Amino acid sequence: MERLLDYFVPDHYNLDLEIDKFKKTIKGKVNVVGEALNETVKFHAVSLDILKVTVNGEEAEFKTDGKALEIHNVFLSPAADIVIEYSGTLNENMEGAYLSTYDYEGEKEIIVTTQFESHYARQAFPCIDEPAAKASFQLTITIPKREGEIVLSNMPSSKEEVGEYERFNFPATPRMSTYLLAWVIGRFHGKTIKNNHGIEITTYCALNQELDSVDFANEIAAKALEFYDDNFGIKYPLWKLDQIALPDFEAGAMENWGLVTYRESMMLANKDATLGTKKLVALTVAHELSHQWFGDLVTMKWWDDLWLNESFASVMEYYAVDYIHPEYNIFESFFTSDCYAALLRDAHEDVQSVHQDVKTPEEISTLFDSAIVYAKGARLLFMLIRLMGWENFCKGLQDYFEKFQYKNTVGDDLWEALKPYAEFDPKELMHAFIDKPGYPVITNDGENFEKFSQRRFSLDGGEMKEEDWSIPRIIEDMSGHYILNLSDAEFKERIDSFNSLGLEEKLRLLIDRDLITQSGLASAASLIPLALEFKSENAPAVWNKVSSLIGNLKTYFDSESAEEKMLKKYTLNLVDEKLKEVGMVTRENDDEDMIRLRANLMALDYFAEDIERFRELSEMYESDPEKMDPEIREDILSAKVYLESEIVDEYLTKYKTITDPEIRFDYLASAAFVRDEEQLNKVFALLGDFEVVKPQDQLHLFIYLYRNPKSKAKTFEWMTKNWDLIKESGGEKTLNDYPMLTARLARTDEELKKYVEFFGPMKDNPILSRAIVIGEKEIKARVEMIKKYREAVVEELRKYV
Ligand SMILES: [Zn+2]
Repeated sequence: MERLLDYFVPDHYNLDLEIDKFKKTIKGKVNVVGEALNETVKFHAVSLDILKVTVNGEEAEFKTDGKALEIHNVFLSPAADIVIEYSGTLNENMEGAYLSTYDYEGEKEIIVTTQFESHYARQAFPCIDEPAAKASFQLTITIPKREGEIVLSNMPSSKEEVGEYERFNFPATPRMSTYLLAWVIGRFHGKTIKNNHGIEITTYCALNQELDSVDFANEIAAKALEFYDDNFGIKYPLWKLDQIALPDFEAGAMENWGLVTYRESMMLANKDATLGTKKLVALTVAHELSHQWFGDLVTMKWWDDLWLNESFASVMEYYAVDYIHPEYNIFESFFTSDCYAALLRDAHEDVQSVHQDVKTPEEISTLFDSAIVYAKGARLLFMLIRLMGWENFCKGLQDYFEKFQYKNTVGDDLWEALKPYAEFDPKELMHAFIDKPGYPVITNDGENFEKFSQRRFSLDGGEMKEEDWSIPRIIEDMSGHYILNLSDAEFKERIDSFNSLGLEEKLRLLIDRDLITQSGLASAASLIPLALEFKSENAPAVWNKVSSLIGNLKTYFDSESAEEKMLKKYTLNLVDEKLKEVGMVTRENDDEDMIRLRANLMALDYFAEDIERFRELSEMYESDPEKMDPEIREDILSAKVYLESEIVDEYLTKYKTITDPEIRFDYLASAAFVRDEEQLNKVFALLGDFEVVKPQDQLHLFIYLYRNPKSKAKTFEWMTKNWDLIKESGGEKTLNDYPMLTARLARTDEELKKYVEFFGPMKDNPILSRAIVIGEKEIKARVEMIKKYREAVVEELRKYV
């Protein structure tokens, strides 16, 4: 793969851009100074019209092919001065420099924004678009004059008026990669605060969002920067931090240096926001801000080490939020969500390893598997931090930042920096887990795992082969990326003393047993007496995993079958007592744990089709929809639509008119749960209707409808007929989610057949190939498992209902 950095090493860019969002045009002049290493130099330039090129003041010959610009007869020089004049257009694809819109007071407001990671800067201006090509960027943006229009970029701006235009000047950035440059143009409102270390933070949202909904993200940002300042050794290196929530955004958020962009649902939290939303926003903000150091200040040399950026940010977000809001007990989410997701995904034969070679940036989307690159990587770093201790880890990290600031690194540079502070070799340990896929299932061969054997764990139904992960010793908390296959006696012993176990040991016990039964090493029937052991449990995280066990059992039965009805009855019996004790509505003195406990119980109660409680919940909506307890809003809405399907019209109207992302999605999700076919069709009709459900939100709607047994088959069929539309409207990363998510919920021969029929021929597509291969095996294994154990599960269930 050709690297353009081999021909020209940029040092400084001066970008002079005229951007007209109404004409959808961008006219630019790029002056780049750097070292020419070859007589022909090349710049990435995708879909740009190159008008004129000069080198050291002389007009130069050039050639373009829509992907790159080639400039000929350049003198080899350490200070070549190249000026490129060009024009381009603003697209609506959520990459490069793109247009986004929102409705405000009956008008459509247009925004221009950017998404340059991984390789889309080249769609906005000619550049050496490789992470190792660090340079400083000085930016001038000229726009047609318009009341209230703001222009943001990585640096703070000064503004001048030029006739009918306004010009915003941004001083040069520190040395950084092209993918971290950003700008946003449009009407927004925001609030500015200063943190205890003197950094000014401004958080913005669209005018149709409540201004107060930025407060929470501001507060988290202020404290997260302080936390990182104190632990990373180097103070936040920029002059200011801006954060902005955008109405159209493909990913969750983007860590542009000094100007972090977010999807609205990942950043906004109004004063009534639920605990779940606050946790999500806090983690997202903390994730992006850790990247300001890890990713922005020090950047990977090439994309094959992207995992290092993401694994680091995915674990650091938990440390920061735990520091800011210890009462959230946020690490419980790390164990029950991230670690669990990693274990599920990493149990497939064809899964990628955390570190995976990529030759071209296009390939990045092929290796994008959040359960691996984010979650598994994060868990491995968590394991390393536990082994080293937080303070030692930070000491190594401080050396790393000091040594490599404004430069590029590979993974081994980090392990080397950590080494002096560890009693073992971090490199050796991490390579053992990072360079190969999978993890071991461990069997005790002696007393307390003094001796043990390891096999690669599989959810594909195949043989689990012996393999070595050089694990020094077995600890039964949540830090090790392995599972334990306890004998019946060992398992019983732990269950009998369950209350005396630490929370992490409890979670390991449940998570491991869940996976062991999913793999067929033990029958799922054993889960039925097991779950009942936790009827009086108070830990929300334990209930969260009990829900996973019920989810596991659910796969054995057809929707609305007599057996499923038995399982529902069983589930009601499981939660009823605790739910009575906890009550359905948030009480004045409830702490965070109580709120989470209730949420877990209510979710199980919903599955149990607890009509009596549905009636009570439904009345809460009827008495005043504006005054619903936000923490159980989704439960109320789902109960109401269960009892009265005609309410769907009202829900969809609310979805269309409410702007708060959390509330409107509760309405949409609940509408999609409706059982009446005619009403369900109204929700179904929104698939592919981008006027109502923005392209960025279509995948959510798809999942809601695929989860509803009444529309599952139809939703799959819709996907097969509208595949081109899905491809055109979503990004490459989300395309991968379709084979991944549909496989996760498929459980019958019929569904397997349809899956293979549709996705089978796409196995050659490098973006989809891995997800499809894994998906097929996953469904096959599940279908077999159901055949094998269904009778036993039914028989066991009968004993309890
Ligand atoms: Zn990230």
